[in-house]
Amino acid sequence: MVTRLASKSHQLYRSARELIPGGVNSPVRTYPPYPLFVASAKGSRFRTADGEEYLDFCMAYGALLEGHALQEVVEAVKAAAEKGTIYGQPTEMEVELASLIKSIVPSMEMVRLVNSGTEATMHSLRLARGFTEKEKILKFEGGFHGSHDAVLVKAGSGASILGAPNSEGIPKSTAKNTLVARFNDEKLVTKIIRDHADELAAVIVEPVMGNMGPIPPRPGFLETLRKVTEEKRVVLIFDEIITGFRMALGGAQQYYKIRPDITVLGKILGGGLPIAAFGGRREIMEKLAPIGGVYQAGTYSGNPISVAASLASLNSLKKKAGQLYPRLEKIGDRMRRGIADHIESTKLKAQVNGVGSMFQVFFTDHPVTNYDSAKISDTGRFQRYFQSLLASRVFIPPSQFESCFLATTHSDDEVQVTLEAFGNALKNLAG
Ligand SMILES: *Cc1c(COP(=O)(O)O)cnc(C)c1O
Repeated sequence: MVTRLASKSHQLYRSARELIPGGVNSPVRTYPPYPLFVASAKGSRFRTADGEEYLDFCMAYGALLEGHALQEVVEAVKAAAEKGTIYGQPTEMEVELASLIKSIVPSMEMVRLVNSGTEATMHSLRLARGFTEKEKILKFEGGFHGSHDAVLVKAGSGASILGAPNSEGIPKSTAKNTLVARFNDEKLVTKIIRDHADELAAVIVEPVMGNMGPIPPRPGFLETLRKVTEEKRVVLIFDEIITGFRMALGGAQQYYKIRPDITVLGKILGGGLPIAAFGGRREIMEKLAPIGGVYQAGTYSGNPISVAASLASLNSLKKKAGQLYPRLEKIGDRMRRGIADHIESTKLKAQVNGVGSMFQVFFTDHPVTNYDSAKISDTGRFQRYFQSLLASRVFIPPSQFESCFLATTHSDDEVQVTLEAFGNALKNLAG
């Protein structure tokens, strides 16, 4: 291993910090003493600026279900670039992609393409407000829906359900329009929706929480959300930016058999290129400009390179779905079971959570079912665990409150090697 202080990554980090706040273009990417800088990636692995190879279980925070540099995507991007990178006019490929998305996620009767998940949730919330002519929205504590004002909101003090800003720079008046409920607490959310039905435009939820580590819904929780929102004419938005094309080809809504009013897709949708989408019931989507009164626009929306990558990525998943999802489920189970065995033998106070191709270790002795139970985890321990994995050339997201992601390129041997690295990391913590 290159001595860390003489490494190219360290030099790059020092330069980056002078030019880019914190040296990174998205805050989660940094960790002590400095982040690895990546030079290239293929399949399950990336190579750093120092030429060292790591097994990747971050997979760009879940954007890559078939690993890095999938051949079909690379070829589609090259071919599209030759024909021009942006036109500012509609293309045949956009129609093809909308139709493909609808065939995979039937609740998305109409689709609008945008460039990032943040944009997609922001616009679907505006759309829900325009459609219902109501102003408040409801999210769940610990749920992440991108980095715009309406959703960077946490629970207010005490028993208040009125949101408070989760960042400087967000007006309190904006945050107050976002109500905050507890994930997996059916009773509480039902009461909030019923009490505020006259002013509540939308409930936005990650059907499997992915941004405080993976937390699956309790049986009946999503069903209750569907029932109560329908009864009170509140738009139910599934933020499937992580779960879409991951839990099943048709996402969490296929897996749990729930039909939301609006679905938001991103991450895997682009196969590694920036694109996101929101879509849903026709009568709601037809409220969007230019046919409806809810404004939404974007210069790069539906750009041919991202659309080509998305088509290549979705067609590949569709073709392989029959084997691909069962195998992901199988290696996911193997990973979770293997880690649980290590936890048991080290007697550490830790939990392994996850479903399908998502998993995470929480350093706490209580089951993790919502934000309150996730946030009491020992993050110092997690940092040591992360560093120990890094030393074994296994890369996971550097935060307790993210999920680790499996990709189809992770071979059985790589899973085995990784389980041994997890075992050693846990042993180091216990010892
Ligand atoms: C990543 C993510 C977003 C934000 O998407 P960006 O493309 O990073 O803006 C929103 N919601 C969920 C559930 C996510 O995981």
